[in-house]
Amino acid sequence: MQYQNILTTCIYCGAGCGLYLQVLDGEIVGVLPAKEHPVSQGKLCIKGWNAASFVYHPDRLKTPLIRRGATSPLLAGGTEGGFEEATWDDALSLVAERLGTIKTESGPNSIGFLASAKCTNEENYLLQKFARAAIGTNNVDHCARL
Ligand code: SF4
Repeated sequence: MQYQNILTTCIYCGAGCGLYLQVLDGEIVGVLPAKEHPVSQGKLCIKGWNAASFVYHPDRLKTPLIRRGATSPLLAGGTEGGFEEATWDDALSLVAERLGTIKTESGPNSIGFLASAKCTNEENYLLQKFARAAIGTNNVDHCARL
């Protein structure tokens, strides 16, 4: 048997508590609070204690999904279309292509980004950097303001 405690950040809110995933033979078997973590100092709320419970859930999405043959249901006469599994390369290429088209046709300020409290500070920093440097818009907001 091989056992490891792997330090990571809770994914459930912006507090960013530190926790250890208990991994036995490559499988997560539990969560422990990180006493030395400067934010949480050995404490976790109930969500943190269950931070790994989704990992092996049968309903968990494991690949990107692309909606094919659909128009926006928000538009009059829009169709629902069906989701198809896709590779990350295909999904990211589609997003890049669509963002490029929107930017060319309607300008960078027609695009906005919503950051998330479920991301780390570093991930949210990267999102606003992408919005400003790659897309050219300051339209960045955060779910905490919704
Ligand atoms: S343990 Fe609770 S308070 Fe800490 S980051 Fe997770 S959800 Fe937020």
